[in-house]
Amino acid sequence: MEIRIDRESTIPLYMQIYSGIRDMIISGKMPAGYRLPPERKLAEQLGVNRSTVINAYRELKSCGLIESHVGRGTVAAIYSTGDGAGRAAGGRTEHMAGIGAGRAAGEMAGLPWDSTGTAQHDASMIHPMPWDQLFSESSLRMQDTTVRDLLKLSGRKDMILFAAGVSVQDIDSLDDLQKIQAEVIKEHGHNAIKHVPSDGFYPLRESISKLTGSRGINASAQDIMVLSGSQQGLYLAACAFIDPGDVVFVEEPTFFSAIHIFRAQGARIIGIPSDRDGMRTDLLAALLRRFRPKLIYTIPDFQNPSGAVMSIERRQELLSLAYRNQTIILEDDAYGMLRYEGDSLPSLKAMDVHGNVLYFSTFSKLLFPGFRVGWISGPQRVLHRLTILKQMVDLHTSSLPQMIIDRFMKEGLLEEHLEKLIKENRKRRDVMLEELDAAGLEGTAWNKPEGGLYLWCRLPDWMQPSALLSRSVSNGVSFVPGSVFYPGNAPANHIRLNFTYPTPPEIREGVKRLAAAYREARKEQKKYSVGDHAELGPIL
Ligand code: PMP
Repeated sequence: MEIRIDRESTIPLYMQIYSGIRDMIISGKMPAGYRLPPERKLAEQLGVNRSTVINAYRELKSCGLIESHVGRGTVAAIYSTGDGAGRAAGGRTEHMAGIGAGRAAGEMAGLPWDSTGTAQHDASMIHPMPWDQLFSESSLRMQDTTVRDLLKLSGRKDMILFAAGVSVQDIDSLDDLQKIQAEVIKEHGHNAIKHVPSDGFYPLRESISKLTGSRGINASAQDIMVLSGSQQGLYLAACAFIDPGDVVFVEEPTFFSAIHIFRAQGARIIGIPSDRDGMRTDLLAALLRRFRPKLIYTIPDFQNPSGAVMSIERRQELLSLAYRNQTIILEDDAYGMLRYEGDSLPSLKAMDVHGNVLYFSTFSKLLFPGFRVGWISGPQRVLHRLTILKQMVDLHTSSLPQMIIDRFMKEGLLEEHLEKLIKENRKRRDVMLEELDAAGLEGTAWNKPEGGLYLWCRLPDWMQPSALLSRSVSNGVSFVPGSVFYPGNAPANHIRLNFTYPTPPEIREGVKRLAAAYREARKEQKKYSVGDHAELGPIL
């Protein structure tokens, strides 16, 4: 929306804004139904006080040129341009689909139709769709494009991806998969391509029940619901439990998609400081009293991105606090089965005696991420509600991938696969650690995770992750900047490196590229900074 204002003019600013908008409505540039920006936003855009815009909108309202509606904000009102078209067509804000609907709108607008159903209209009457004005508030709460941009890079052939989030992909021959698929189709016939129940293919739920037993969880097939990836489960749980304004606690840092999901639902997200033993439960009691969160989201094993494992004492403390405060715990166990050394700790769900924990896990990190199969285990009344929600989202998870994964498990192939996977993931972790040690990244430190997929690196304060990322991408290697893992202001000096997706030779080459980018960024920063030994001026 372009409004010119003249600060030298004797006409008050609010009248200038009023006239600008009025002219756009009268000329048809701003069709009826056009959503005007909120007062604060327009005031910022024009560099005026909010009260100036409020006064302008008040004038426009009193002339009947604009209207305010709860939930829709302020819109241009129906205004007759003389031929009735603006009133009838422009005034419609409902969305009508298909030719029939288009025809209805055209007829209402008095537009002639040709034999193909296409309206013959005066093009000057039609204005571009104001898409940005039409997006819902919850969709606009999701602004971060870092991950989308990084995913786009994954298509570049020359790019070594330390930004990925999956295990080794190339250890299995596709022959096993082909064989299993043929067997599944032979056994199930057309049922393999028909619908399955929304809570999942029952034999797979039984197999998952056995698998979760290996994490110490006692859940029957009825206590398990299949999801189209565990991220879908987080979304369904957020829809089921979060009303706008509800508080959610997360570890800080945490999985960025969880942050986006909770935020889109209108949650107030509070990051709980974490260290190498996981979430700081010593801070929780006071915070729980103060904020009364509905949910606590945690990744106790091989946390994404930090690789931390929550200690047994903190697991106990977290559960007892949740029981006392009737707080739901969302336990995300995407990585728990990927342990390369040391002893496993029981999952929160395995320790949960009062049923506060909803447990999420996924085949994405174990088997075929593109199949999109994950699961949740929790009280049946919760699963029932989530099933109703899932029916609205995708009816059910695709049948064939569920059947294939089930068969994979029944034939003992998952166990064999996991053995190979863990060995290869561990090997790649060690290659990356070795290369980083040799790379001489002055001032940078990283962890040695006992499992999972990531190294969490702390850069020195003088190194900006964004500067390093742009140089790295030009050099052909990508990583995820740490800031995306924080719900609020982030300490800007971490990066996440995945060591499992690239092959060992790619890891070696990738670390070389990263180190070159590091040196270039360092040189550049030195050029513009005051220098380590320069005298600092007085700080007031
Ligand atoms: N939780 C965590 C902690 C993850 O890191 C991821 C994927 N990166 C997911 C959930 C989502 O996994 P899925 O592919 O099953 O949706």
